[in-house]
Amino acid sequence: MIPRFKLSPDAPEVSALAYGVWRIADDPAGSSTARVRAKIDACLAQGITTFDHADIYGLYTCEGLFGRALADAPSLRDQIEIVTKCGINVPCDHRPGVRVHHYDASAAAIERCVDRSLRELRTDRIDVLLVHRPDWLTSAEDTARGLLGVIESGKVRSVGVSNYNPHQFALLARYLGHAPVTNQIELSLLRMDAITDGTLDQCQGADVHPMAWSPLGGGRLLTGDEPGAVRTRALLARLAAEYGATAEQLALAWVAALPSKPQVVIGTNQLDRIRDAAASVRIKLQREHWYELWAAAQGKPIP
Ligand code: NAP
Repeated sequence: MIPRFKLSPDAPEVSALAYGVWRIADDPAGSSTARVRAKIDACLAQGITTFDHADIYGLYTCEGLFGRALADAPSLRDQIEIVTKCGINVPCDHRPGVRVHHYDASAAAIERCVDRSLRELRTDRIDVLLVHRPDWLTSAEDTARGLLGVIESGKVRSVGVSNYNPHQFALLARYLGHAPVTNQIELSLLRMDAITDGTLDQCQGADVHPMAWSPLGGGRLLTGDEPGAVRTRALLARLAAEYGATAEQLALAWVAALPSKPQVVIGTNQLDRIRDAAASVRIKLQREHWYELWAAAQGKPIP
């Protein structure tokens, strides 16, 4: 079974792997309630209980698709943790008043987004609310006021951020009075900035597990033709034979091996890949293999 931990000492317990809902509207097998339910069930069978949403996923449709499955089977709600995000506005049919792609993480916008997410998800609470991206035009004080407000109202259990740099994280922590419970960042063999720019060190220091999005580089690691992906794939294939694992499993284990212990957010639409990803938690990558993969991905030796 998948290990569990709290994202931070005062945050809800989650599974070490999370299922990301971003792509459920693009599933070649469709996005019927039965299909969404099949993916929820496939996750639960493996002990994956955390579902990572954002209001904007599927151009504001994915929360609703998931909410229909919850409405059909209300007992599911107590078996899962819902993470969702707010603060990105994109012009589309579901946002008729929005003319320009922009961010809004003001207190008023946060409250509006949470109310909408609760309606779409057909639930009375969000376990973890994240500010999706830093909004350059809103003060940290205003964002913090909104985040504290939705906790105070009982609509949200804990709050965190996504795609924040260490300065933005620290600034918001000052106004929240505590660290955000996570920073959800892009992290994979193809995107390693967080390892060296202080993001992951800050999480360790704050006793916070980061969440790692696109841990397979959105699939590019397995199919992309960029040189880093090609080099890394060749090494992953060789190591996979040695570990009796798949390349995907090793790539997920590479992210999970980091000392800040990221919660790894997978995004496959395929039921067998959900099952296979879950088995990655049993892999303990040898130190030399971890660094060998780093060097293959970077195309250079470590400094
Ligand atoms: P990912 O696991 O890196 O990529 C998933 C994609 O890779 C899917 O399209 C999947 O296709 C493909 N894939 C997996 N195994 C493959 C294989 N062996 N060969 C070819 N393709 C393969 O994760 P992601 O979907 O990019 O992101 C995961 C989650 O992170 C999202 O759902 C979302 O919750 C979160 N996210 C957050 C942010 C943010 O700003 N906070 C941004 C992006 C994503 P199949 O479906 O066919 O398996």
